[in-house]
Amino acid sequence: MKVDFHCHTTASDGSLNPSELIDLAVQYEVETLAITDHDTTSGYSQALEYATKKGIRLIPGVEASCDWQGHTIHIVGLDFDPDNEELQKGLELIRALRQKRADAMIDKLAARPNFQKLDLADLLEQQIGEGVVGRGHFAQLLIEQNYVKNSQQAFDKYLKKGRVGYVKSEWPDLADVVNWIKQANGIAVIAHPGIYKFTSRKLNRLIEDFITAGGQGIEVVNHPRPSSDMMGMAERAKRYDLLASIGSDFHRPEHSWRGLGWLAPLPEHCTPVWEHFKKPLFINGKP
Ligand code: MN
Ligand code: MN
Ligand code: MN
Repeated sequence: MKVDFHCHTTASDGSLNPSELIDLAVQYEVETLAITDHDTTSGYSQALEYATKKGIRLIPGVEASCDWQGHTIHIVGLDFDPDNEELQKGLELIRALRQKRADAMIDKLAARPNFQKLDLADLLEQQIGEGVVGRGHFAQLLIEQNYVKNSQQAFDKYLKKGRVGYVKSEWPDLADVVNWIKQANGIAVIAHPGIYKFTSRKLNRLIEDFITAGGQGIEVVNHPRPSSDMMGMAERAKRYDLLASIGSDFHRPEHSWRGLGWLAPLPEHCTPVWEHFKKPLFINGKP
């Protein structure tokens, strides 16, 4: 049985709408899924009825941005009460900060001669649709307007730190975000821990602060093939007594390296995060 606890829809910066994502899950035989859109649970709510009809079990999910010692960290929340007011107010705050950042990015880019022929605000709005704005939308806009060939180039040339479109984000503290998820009776998980490119010591400090705040899980598997990185995260999960999650971070089918549910199995000695769901899943007969 395949599971995936990290993916995106058009409710944030994914390219498939919630129903299309469910169809893809059916096609790829992913039986249990958490839609973890950036700072919104609207993709989850939109997909719920259709998922049930299609026999897909949907776990409430979200990917929230926060700040830890000046770094942007993503925390995945799983199996929480989506109607919890404190969590929803927190997510609303992050969405407002995202909008503020996007406005500042537009101002900075629009001041540059090579962007003056474009109505950036209008193009961005089309790109976002119903979603929550993110830098991925800027990347798509730059690709479609032929400024760059792919997302990596968009970040390297325009969006990353030191480039013209970069605006420092202001996110709530790690401890606040973890607390909101806990308040909503959910499990907080450090998303894609390898992506931050921290030294081992620094990653351990993040984990320690995260645990102090009440965090319980870490993504151990993000890729289809086992790697030394994955084994390092599995080892940390064990050492720190963290629940292990698995998620592809799927955004769009064109990103062929990140298929929905296309994930290596959890290493044996890990405690799967789904064992702690309110209604546990059974995978190969084991919880
Ligand atoms: Mn994203
Ligand atoms: Mn992320
Ligand atoms: Mn993600």
